[in-house]
Amino acid sequence: MTAGPRGGGRERSRSRHCRAIQRRLVFLEELPEAEATALQAHVCACRDCGRTERLFRGLLAAIRDMPAPEDAYWDRIAEAIMARIRAPPPPWMDQSSGVE
Ligand SMILES: [Zn+2]
Repeated sequence: MTAGPRGGGRERSRSRHCRAIQRRLVFLEELPEAEATALQAHVCACRDCGRTERLFRGLLAAIRDMPAPEDAYWDRIAEAIMARIRAPPPPWMDQSSGVE
């Protein structure tokens, strides 16, 4: 009989290790070579981290292929942010009623 996927402490510590690995995968292309090599070795041996790495690589490739927004796009973003800042606060934020 083999151990189930939800084993004892060893399984939990591996999960914690995998979460740490997966957080670092976001920076895979910016890591120092030694760390990238160690990460890659784990990713090759671990199904969960391998799946996450493929997801990140796909996302990075998709972002890289996107055209850069034009300046007008950033102007519209800035205008929308300023409009939200200048707008009156929503009723639930009104501190003049009921709060001393
Ligand atoms: Zn892993």
